[in-house]
Amino acid sequence: MTRIELDGLVKEFDSLTAIDGVSLTIEDGEFLVLVGPSGCGKSTLMRTIAGLETPTEGDVVLDGTAVTDWEPKDRNVAMVFQNYALYPHMTARRNMTFGMNSVGSFTDEEIDRRVEETADILDIADLLDRKPAELSGGEKQRVAMGRALLRDPDVFLLDEPLSNLDAKLRDQMRAELQQLHKEIGTTTVYVTHDQTEAMTLGQRVAVMNDGEIQQVDSPQTLYDFPNTQFAAEFVGSPAMNVVPVLVEHAGDRWFATHEQFRVPLPSGEGLAERQFAMGVRPEDLHVVGESQHESAHIDGTVKVTEPQGDALLVHCRVGNDTLRVLTDSRASYEIGDSIGVNVDDRRVHLFDPDDGRTVYHSEGQQARTEAILE
Ligand code: ATP
Repeated sequence: MTRIELDGLVKEFDSLTAIDGVSLTIEDGEFLVLVGPSGCGKSTLMRTIAGLETPTEGDVVLDGTAVTDWEPKDRNVAMVFQNYALYPHMTARRNMTFGMNSVGSFTDEEIDRRVEETADILDIADLLDRKPAELSGGEKQRVAMGRALLRDPDVFLLDEPLSNLDAKLRDQMRAELQQLHKEIGTTTVYVTHDQTEAMTLGQRVAVMNDGEIQQVDSPQTLYDFPNTQFAAEFVGSPAMNVVPVLVEHAGDRWFATHEQFRVPLPSGEGLAERQFAMGVRPEDLHVVGESQHESAHIDGTVKVTEPQGDALLVHCRVGNDTLRVLTDSRASYEIGDSIGVNVDDRRVHLFDPDDGRTVYHSEGQQARTEAILE
């Protein structure tokens, strides 16, 4: 079991900065998911932990020891890649054990015993004599996991290991990975660009953009209290709505005023009268009945509807903006219908339009203010 500390990591490739000052601690036995858009530096960060890249600045510290200059083989870190990297001419068994003798730390008997144990855990005992071409995507994925497990690593680095699988198999493998982690408890860093995967898998989720970690929190905290507009829009599907508003103080109340509507804010703590970007999630907007249309916060026009099975997503035009509103799956709207929409004013987020940092969450504002200002 191992604690990973990343201390001020920077990685430059010529003029490109792939990692831009990452400091992060991954606790012993933790399952941390690193999520971010393509090209944000996730793989580079993983490769730096594994020792496949040398950082331009900063240190990788494993259990209190700086290993920044150590060879990958000396770190006891196992990495599973998106394409599984299996040798096509070798059986699953050979793929799993290849190179283990040369390390010298395993006897043949020990390797055999470990293969049996690992194959049992991953349910691949019947597949060990097959070559990769004779295995399905999910089976190849298990063999690649088996190869990593067999070495009894201190750290698992999983780089988009499920992205080649179909949706159903991905769901199944996600559950299996969680179960596996519960059983073996190895410190694991899992990279994905898929926010749903991040939210379902991670004990904590680190959101990365442009080489920087924007926020590290539990999935629910990340969802309810995003620290930046980027994290707010990246996490959650359908994505959070963000529209420009002017925050105003009138009488003893604060309001977020859009060109077409006005939403009262529960408090004015931390606010000033100026422009903000207002974020509100689609499920925190509510279509009202006919009789309440007049008094609703927003008067919008239905642009598109998207049935989602358990809900209906209504794209609603409001002035120059479009708001996505989640509503009852059995409601029926025609394009061009006029609808009244209320905003759950406990669920409003305000972002600084200049730097994208969150300035205000209407719920739990007090509790979060200090953290945000840190
Ligand atoms: P993806 O999800 O698409 O795999 P990522 O978040 O893992 O993306 P990285 O592969 O870490 O992103 O790449 C981060 C940036 O660094 C990209 O702009 C990429 O082009 C650049 N980069 C990565 N490796 C190298 C390299 N060896 N030489 C030059 N540039 C590189």
